[in-house]
Amino acid sequence: MPEERLHPEVRDAVARLCKDFPDEYWRAKDRARAYAGEFVQALTEGGYLSVLIPEEYGGAGMDLAAACAVLEEIQRSGANGAACHAQMYIMGSLLRHGNEAQKQKYLPEIASGALRLQAFGVTEPSSGTDTTRIKTRARRDGDHYVVSGQKVFISRAEHSDLLLLLVRTTPREEVAKPTQGMSVLLVDLREAVGNGITVRPLETMLNHATTELFIDQLRVPVENLIGEEDKGFSYILDGMNAERILIASECIGDARWFIDRASNYARDREVFGSPIGKNQGIQFPIARAHVQTEAAALMVEKACRLFDAGEPCGSEANMAKLLAADASWAAADMCLQTHGGYGFTVEYDIERKFRETRLYQVAPISTNLILSNIATHVLGLPKSF
Ligand SMILES: Cc1cc2nc3c(=O)[nH]c(=O)nc-3n(C[C@H](O)[C@H](O)[C@H](O)COP(=O)(O)OP(=O)(O)OC[C@H]3O[C@@H](n4cnc5c(N)ncnc54)[C@H](O)[C@@H]3O)c2cc1C
Repeated sequence: MPEERLHPEVRDAVARLCKDFPDEYWRAKDRARAYAGEFVQALTEGGYLSVLIPEEYGGAGMDLAAACAVLEEIQRSGANGAACHAQMYIMGSLLRHGNEAQKQKYLPEIASGALRLQAFGVTEPSSGTDTTRIKTRARRDGDHYVVSGQKVFISRAEHSDLLLLLVRTTPREEVAKPTQGMSVLLVDLREAVGNGITVRPLETMLNHATTELFIDQLRVPVENLIGEEDKGFSYILDGMNAERILIASECIGDARWFIDRASNYARDREVFGSPIGKNQGIQFPIARAHVQTEAAALMVEKACRLFDAGEPCGSEANMAKLLAADASWAAADMCLQTHGGYGFTVEYDIERKFRETRLYQVAPISTNLILSNIATHVLGLPKSF
């Protein structure tokens, strides 16, 4: 059945590029817990990580739908865009809230690949989802901020030149609303690592290059403040709609990969003298995963359309992320089951993708937090926290 394909030329080009990075490449990276640097380099050289950067700063100046097409195709090929997806949405904070000098200084180099903006530092060990309780503190000292604190799960910090860091500039007790008093700093990791930031890799169940950051008296020039002091939370929130829609597109790509693999296997694998796919017990879960994925894809498209039209899309971005993450997880489970024992073997790649797509139930926002947002903001139910 033909799918609706926005930006077909982008999709085809990305799919071609991904052919140079077959399953064996990702399997080897996963086994070695190594960063997919060659893949990220190829995407950068192809201009795919800068599709959202306006042409005046050296990017392609395309819409979010184009970025979604890139990430969906990456995942659909069996690759893992988590090695680089953040560049697309982190850049948005700089683009929307940075001053002209910052944009001129950084965006063209990000677009050309000379600078990598891949790291985004929000989560902390003691605050978790409750972002307003972050403790990383920046105090003004002349023309610098002096930053101390700790971050956790900061992905790609070892493979990025720049880090967008959320800090508290005014204590929570001194502001009218907890969301006030936070600021966003652009940290140059090339100078900061070893001079105020210590990066410690954090091993997880998937190959995600995530880390802990220990920040001690890090000096960041005031000129690296994005937007206004104390207003950083709104800038971060602003970028989250794009992030959720992009991640949802990745989930759709994953789901389609699982469905393709399961369908192919079910057609080929013969047990009791006929293909297992002849049994409705095998067919129906595959068909259900397909139905679920197509429905989720419609919500992703809707959220994306609203975003590109400049309309409010917070609820739609949340719903797209939830539905797409559920669809990819359901498809992953179905695919593993369809493959029987072989699904568990490393050479089939199902178990790797299964681990990778599980992340999206938790990050960048967990399913529970989305449900809570929909319950209170869309349905008007009383807040529980
Ligand atoms: C591989 C990986 C990469 C990541 N990369 C980054 C990154 O680059 N930058 C970054 O800043 N962060 C990153 N994160 C962090 C991620 O965004 C957080 O893990 C996520 O937001 C959840 O926070 P937490 O782990 O502290 O969970 P907690 O906040 O401790 O929550 C634990 C569980 O309780 C649930 N929960 C919490 N409160 C409630 C409630 N009121 N009602 C119902 N349920 C609730 C949550 O949904 C969750 O399932 C990454 C995480 C992982 C695992």
